[in-house]
Amino acid sequence: MRTVGIIGGGQLGRMLAIAAARLNFRTIILEPQADCPATQVANGQIVAAYDDEAALAALAQSCDVITYEFENVPVSAAEFLARSKPVYPPPKALEVAQDRVTEKRFIQNCGIPTADFHAVDDQAGLEAALADFEGKGVLKTRRLGYDGKGQKVFRGPQDLPAGAFNELGGVPLILESFVAFDREVSIIAARGIDGTVSCFDPGENIHRNGILHTSTVPASLGADTAEKARGAAKAILDSLGYVGVIGVEFFVLPDGSLVANEIAPRVHNSGHWTEAACVVSQFEQHIRAITGLPLSDGARHSDCVMQNLIGEDIDNVPAWLSRPNALVHLYGKAEARPGRKMGHVTWLV
Ligand code: AMP
Repeated sequence: MRTVGIIGGGQLGRMLAIAAARLNFRTIILEPQADCPATQVANGQIVAAYDDEAALAALAQSCDVITYEFENVPVSAAEFLARSKPVYPPPKALEVAQDRVTEKRFIQNCGIPTADFHAVDDQAGLEAALADFEGKGVLKTRRLGYDGKGQKVFRGPQDLPAGAFNELGGVPLILESFVAFDREVSIIAARGIDGTVSCFDPGENIHRNGILHTSTVPASLGADTAEKARGAAKAILDSLGYVGVIGVEFFVLPDGSLVANEIAPRVHNSGHWTEAACVVSQFEQHIRAITGLPLSDGARHSDCVMQNLIGEDIDNVPAWLSRPNALVHLYGKAEARPGRKMGHVTWLV
C-alpha cells in the first residue's frame, strides 16, 4: 500500500498528510478549494466537489485506501468510492454522525446515555417539545451544525419560542434536554482493521463562543469515569465495525456519570494534544489504523494543555514560540478571519 486519499483539505487533512508522509505514504487530497491547508503538504490534489463522480473515480484509481477529515462528506460519495477501494472509517459512520437524531439513537443503542431529545419539524413541534422539557433545552439543526453554529438555548418558560423554528432556517431540528453538566470531556479512540481498539486518555474541554478553546490532559475525572469513557468509545467503534480514529464528546454530571453528546468519525480538535504529549499522535494512529499497521497503545508521557489559536490569536505566535515546552502548529491559512482556526499550541505541564 502506497497512497492514501483524503477527502477534505482543511487542517485535519493537513495533519493526516504529514503523519502519512512520516510512514512513507503518499497522499492525494480531494477538495474544491485549490492551495488548501492539506494540499500544501500533500503529494497532489484533485480540485473538485466532494460529490463529483469523475473526480471520485480518479481518486479511487490513484489511491490504495481512502479516508476523510470531516463528517459532512456526502454518504453517497463514500459509498461510491467503497465499491472500488477500502473507505475508512466506513460510510455507515458518516451516516450516523451526520444527523443528530440518528446519532443519538445509535449511541443509545450502544447502551450509552445521551440527553433526552425530540425531533422537531415545525413550530408546533418545537412548542410541544419545549413544554415536555419545562421550557429548557438546546435546539440544534439536525444536520450541518458545527462549532456551536445552528443552535439556540432555552433557559426556561420565559424564553418564548415564537418564530424560533424559522430562526434556525426552517430545517429539521432536534431539541435536546438541557444537561446540567460539571465539565465536558472527550476521548479519542482508534480501531484497527483487525478489531484492536486503543484509546488515548480523556481530555477536559473548555469552549468559548461555541468553539473549542482548550483541552487539558489529564481531565479531572475519577478512574471509574475515565474507564466508562473508554468502554463507551469501544462499544461505538465495535458496533460500527469502525476502522480509524474517532472522537467522542461527553458531558460529565456532578455524580461522575457520563452523557454522550456527539461523535466525530475522524481525528478531532480535542485530540491535537497527542502530538506533543504522546509518542504517537492521533494523526499517525489514524494512518496506522487505515493502512493496517499496528496501533500505538495511546500511552501519554506528559500532562499538557492544548489551546486553539483562533483568528487574530495568530499574532501571538512569537510569544508562544518563546515559551518553554510549547509546541506550535500552524495551518497555512492566508487570512485570519474572526472565529477561524489558524493553528494550535500545546504546552507540557
Ligand atoms: P455541540 O455542537 O453539540 O457540540 O454543542 C456545542 C456546545 O453547546 C457543547 O460543547 C456544550 O457546551 C453545549 N451544549 C450542547 N448540547 C447541550 C445540552 N443538551 N445541554 C447543555 N449544554 C449543551
